[in-house]
Amino acid sequence: MGGDRLEVYRRKRDFTRTPEPSGVVAPGPGGARFVVQRHRASRLHYDLRFEIDGVLVSWAVPKGPTLDPQARRLAMHVEDHPLEYLYFEGVIPSGEYGGGDVIVWDTGTWEPVKTDDPRAAVESGELHAEMHGEKLRGRLVLVRRDGDEGGEPWMLLHKRDGHAVDGWDPEDHPRSVLSGRTNEQVRAEPDRMWRSDLPATEASVSLLPEPLPDEAIDELEAFGRQGTWEVFGRRLKVTNLDKVLFGGDPPVTKREFLAYAARIAPVALPYLEGRPLNLHRYPNGAEKKGFWHKQRPDHAPSWLGAWDNLAADEGETTTYTVVDEPAALVWAANFGALEWHPWTSRTDAPHEPTYALIDLDPGGHTTWEDLLVLARLHRTALDHLGVTARAKVTGRRGIQIWVPVTGGYSFDETRAWVERLSRTVGRVVPDLVSWEWEVKARKGLARLDYTQNAVNKTLVAPYSPRPAPGAPVSVPIAWDELDDPELRPDRWTIRTVLDRLDGSGDPFRALLSAGQELPEIT
Ligand code: MN
Repeated sequence: MGGDRLEVYRRKRDFTRTPEPSGVVAPGPGGARFVVQRHRASRLHYDLRFEIDGVLVSWAVPKGPTLDPQARRLAMHVEDHPLEYLYFEGVIPSGEYGGGDVIVWDTGTWEPVKTDDPRAAVESGELHAEMHGEKLRGRLVLVRRDGDEGGEPWMLLHKRDGHAVDGWDPEDHPRSVLSGRTNEQVRAEPDRMWRSDLPATEASVSLLPEPLPDEAIDELEAFGRQGTWEVFGRRLKVTNLDKVLFGGDPPVTKREFLAYAARIAPVALPYLEGRPLNLHRYPNGAEKKGFWHKQRPDHAPSWLGAWDNLAADEGETTTYTVVDEPAALVWAANFGALEWHPWTSRTDAPHEPTYALIDLDPGGHTTWEDLLVLARLHRTALDHLGVTARAKVTGRRGIQIWVPVTGGYSFDETRAWVERLSRTVGRVVPDLVSWEWEVKARKGLARLDYTQNAVNKTLVAPYSPRPAPGAPVSVPIAWDELDDPELRPDRWTIRTVLDRLDGSGDPFRALLSAGQELPEIT
């Protein structure tokens, strides 16, 4: 089954834990398949892949295949890919082989011409293929060129046949034939990630959360004041279900809050898992004073994630809660955690932040319009620097910007970078910003707060409620929503944010695979 042909692929991907063979998918009913993936890696190229003997025999074509019979395209013969990659569309984490974004630019079936042994044709250096795709039709010819060093350059052309179109350019037809989306759109909201550290059969990982079944909500609704709830495969005792936790019309009961926590848990989980969680508890409701609860309680269920902070000093928190599964967030909610504050770093490297955070903190005189000016200026600066980031409204008055970073940065480094960026932005609008430490000395101006970039300092999690009437939620937004006149920092509540997610998805998903190095700011 072409096992040897995949050797190069496997070597490049370090399959250290993979006993099972990859590259085994039943052939298509209509004969051999092909795919062309438009792949924005370190350079844009198109990957032309033919199904032959259970693998994808592949060429990387920098300018892309074409119907133009006059074009002669360079095509680098690259290692075979496993069949599991055939319809892959999504992102490859930066830093990994081929890191970037991929769409299925064309697919269909193909027939070898003048041979019934396409493998031998490839080995002989000439392959003629009749293409039956949505974009590619007619006869493609691939011919090996000699003499060049480094790689294996071939030439790709389209025969002058009934499907040829003079001047046809693949870049004029940029959308996926599977989803209709462009590379930019897939990058912004990927459905799947290709994890090259996993075996091919498991490498295509869904980034879409599994929703909570409606029956689980029905069960919660049917309880009296308390009950034992079967949720996400766990049994949780839920209590005081009719207690009012947030004001509003009608007020929000604990039952409604728990239903929200369970529905949002699959969406919020990627921002919580693997991180110590500081719980902001309001067991008597948002109108009473809340308090920080960091120590994982002894009565917590044994399955609840935990992290021992071995560096804790006398009197500091020794064991933190870690929300590693959706049921854990429901547990925290039932425990009175109205706000969820995960660390910026992960338990496996607590002194290395995975995000640099920009906290636009309005002062008493800062208007919403002022805050939007500051957010848009940061957007422009980040775009100019080529940095991937997203904003979210806090659910109270502010806006935060999250910048995903690769491992290895210290908090001192991310804090210094955010300070340089925000001071540069702040110089453009000195009348809106104060750098004074004391709140009173700021005279009601906004603060561009870089000091949150420190170990055990946290910002509220995406989709966490805030302790205010109506249960507003901190919600990620797309950059162009900063120009939406309807935008407000507390626009969405636990009663409306799920509909927004159904309609427009989660803008922060694009950050999950976008860890990056921070460019110099001078
Ligand atoms: Mn590629």
